[in-house]
Parts: sequence; C-alpha cells; structure tokens
Amino acid sequence: MYCLMCGKLIEEGNWKDVLFSEDPLCQECRQQWNKKKIHFHLDGVNVNTDYVYNAAFSSALIQFKECGDEALKDVFLYEVKKKIQRKYKGYTICFMPSALEKQKLRGFNHLEEMYSCLHMPMIDPFMKTSSESQKQLPGYLRRNMVHEIALKSGIVLPKKCLLVDDTITTGSTLKGALHCLNQQVKDIEIYCVSANETWI
Ligand SMILES: [Zn+2]
Repeated sequence: MYCLMCGKLIEEGNWKDVLFSEDPLCQECRQQWNKKKIHFHLDGVNVNTDYVYNAAFSSALIQFKECGDEALKDVFLYEVKKKIQRKYKGYTICFMPSALEKQKLRGFNHLEEMYSCLHMPMIDPFMKTSSESQKQLPGYLRRNMVHEIALKSGIVLPKKCLLVDDTITTGSTLKGALHCLNQQVKDIEIYCVSANETWI
C-alpha cells in the first residue's frame, strides 16, 4: 500500500506503519496532523473537533476538494471513526453546503464522501444562496439572509441533527445553519474534523 499523500510504500516503512497499515497515510504524514480534541460552543450548541487546522491538514483537504482526489476521502475520519459512531448514535448527519458552482466543478459532494465511512444516515438539507440570487429578493427577505444559507424546500428534518463540516474557521456558515433550523430541531450537535487554532 502506498501513502496517499507522499506516495511512500507503507509496508517498507517502520514497524508502526505495518502495525497500523490500514491507515491510508504513512506514519510520517500522519504525524504532521495536529490531533487535538477541541470542544466549545457556538450559539449554545456543542461543537467537537479532533484536529487543529494546520498546513498538513490543509494540503490534504485541498488535494481532496480542489484537485478532486477522491481516494483521500477516508483519510480524514480514519482515526476517529469509531468514536464518532459511538458518540453520535441516533443522529442524522446534515452536511454544510458548498457554493453550488464549486460543487458542480468538483463533480462530487466532498462531505458526503468524507462522512460515508461512518455508515450513519445522512442528508443534505441546506443550500448556499449566492449573493447574485439574493439581490433579486425583496429587501425584507434579504435582511434575514445574513449568512447566505437557506433550507432546501421540502426537507424533512430529523429529530437529532449532527451538523458536520471539514473545518470550522469563523463558524459563520454553521451559525447560519443553526439560524435556519430555528427551533425546529431540539437536539443539535456540531462536528467538524478540524478547527482553526483560534478556537483553542
Ligand atoms: Zn506519507
């Protein structure tokens, strides 16, 4: 097996590589990720993350999202998969929206790929409202759309929502999603694989 980031043959690595050989990353690449549990609140909702967003995490994410390297999809939750399945049993995963143009270019929903390894129920309830389409809305509606995110029409919301993203930077999209759910869902949790170090 070859490391998906650096291309090194993993079996030829050290004994740790062989022992943990199911990891699609070699030990060297994995060690560059800053694994650190961070817990905080966003508008009163629990947020859990497992990595600090750093250069190594960022380049894996870019290679996956922007270069369309779908093989990397299992790299992100590999070390925390079982923990998440246990912690959020009974929840339905709700993806944060990407800008539609970006997703079209990409040809796949990167969060769906990333979280599919959990085998949990998943829905894609939100959409980004581009600033262009917002301009056509009447003013009173536009003022409500501070976060450029809306619920898709006809979405049936689950009782327990786990809002997920790859990383949390300012939290504004997540805040927008919470705003959309607006009392309709009582049980909400947030999980992001990584967090910007300002959240520590
Ligand atoms: Zn490597």
